[in-house]
Amino acid sequence: MEYKDILDKAFAAMDNAYVPYSHYKVGACVKTVDGEYIIGANVENAAYSPTMCGERNAIFQAYAQGYRKADIESIAIVTSGKRIGTPCGVCRQVLVELINQDTPIVMSNGVDTRITNIEALLPDSFNEEDLVNEL
Ligand SMILES: [Zn+2]
Repeated sequence: MEYKDILDKAFAAMDNAYVPYSHYKVGACVKTVDGEYIIGANVENAAYSPTMCGERNAIFQAYAQGYRKADIESIAIVTSGKRIGTPCGVCRQVLVELINQDTPIVMSNGVDTRITNIEALLPDSFNEEDLVNEL
């Protein structure tokens, strides 16, 4: 199956999720064009607000390692939920800036798999082009 590599790594990363409150595990994996796999998992906090989503964890890690949007081939996001978990609004806002609009986003809950991209998930987004001031 296409994307089996990143899905397998995302499901393995899901084991690292720290979710004592929601018990909702998310794993993620960014695949770079040079063949690197960068994983992420959700990490919760008793104060709730500092909680970090799995896909943001992975994409921020990729950027921290020096990768940029042109270097990212695809991203997988997997959950333990009954249905496929799509990125939350905050993650969509992050992804619209940090990956290309047509970069495949592969989502799975282990039963069903869906492939989409950030342009479809966050149309008409606010992005860096909106910050250009022209008088
Ligand atoms: Zn999120």
